[in-house]
Amino acid sequence: MPLNTERVVEVLDDQGWLGMPPDTDMPWDDPDWVDHEVIGVDWDKTMGRFERSRGDFEPDIGWPDISPNGFVPDAFGSGAPRDADGLESEDSSTTASMAGRRPEICAWYQPIHFYGSDWGIYVYSECIRQVGSDIGRWLPRGTLWTPRLGMELQLAAFLTFYLHEAFHHKTEALAIRYQITRMASHYYDYWDAVYMPPHRRGHGPLEEALANVDSYRRLAQSPYRDVLSTPVYKAARNYLKWRFRHDPPGYRDATTLLNGKKGEAALNLLKAQVMDAVTSPATTSIDRGWDCAPNMNESLFGIDSNIYQIVPKSGSYCLPPSGATRPTAGSPISRTP
Ligand SMILES: [Zn+2]
Repeated sequence: MPLNTERVVEVLDDQGWLGMPPDTDMPWDDPDWVDHEVIGVDWDKTMGRFERSRGDFEPDIGWPDISPNGFVPDAFGSGAPRDADGLESEDSSTTASMAGRRPEICAWYQPIHFYGSDWGIYVYSECIRQVGSDIGRWLPRGTLWTPRLGMELQLAAFLTFYLHEAFHHKTEALAIRYQITRMASHYYDYWDAVYMPPHRRGHGPLEEALANVDSYRRLAQSPYRDVLSTPVYKAARNYLKWRFRHDPPGYRDATTLLNGKKGEAALNLLKAQVMDAVTSPATTSIDRGWDCAPNMNESLFGIDSNIYQIVPKSGSYCLPPSGATRPTAGSPISRTP
């Protein structure tokens, strides 16, 4: 039988590994649940899989109507926002607000260790629309808006968030592999000693830079590359490259880790951080031959069922909905000492 959440939660619970460190403020802000609700995302329809399996690839089937509202076709092809002098400005309000549409502002990952069956990836529908419009700035100049293009831009925007958050799941999966093989707690200790302290100082930990890198890298891989047309794919990658530079400290280190060896070394450092629960693991821990242990941080199972859009009650969802609707994203589990 394939591995599922229930089994993982059961094992974590048996071992006393469920629950989060006390006094932890998560890096994301919870929405106002009076005004928002949680609607599941139908992964197959979002990715156009039902249609493809019939040999009839029409990825816009099952999507809600895409209206041009919120899209600025005049901005298509205009590239990075610039100030009145034509310079790319770090502090113009436009640039700041656009760069603000980033993971942890727009999306978050609720770990299985801390949320049990409420684990998953949560994305604001408003951000998907806004970032879809932002990505349009990197389309070829003169591109005309069509509903199909609007859908693709929203899909690309969703994937930039999804792939960043999926990396957090992969890091948790790495910790679970250590825990099972060593029968010792890793994720809780790593989170408390390595992940959260820089966040409290307003500096994203290494995991955040690598989550950005992974989102950029995986957009180029199947199945994500297959569901985007070449102009939208290129626009999304160029948008990310631009946005990383405007991300908060730590997150923006992705810029230097996008290419080859540096990124690989940083990923190995993260693996050692999770193993030893220290920010600067001993050299032996970093150099222990990770190339001989591939796939350590792959997902435990496909993350296609626990993806949710946070939708304003007065608005509408923007990705194909699954049947699941909930009032909130759930609450973290307190760890009993
Ligand atoms: Zn993140």
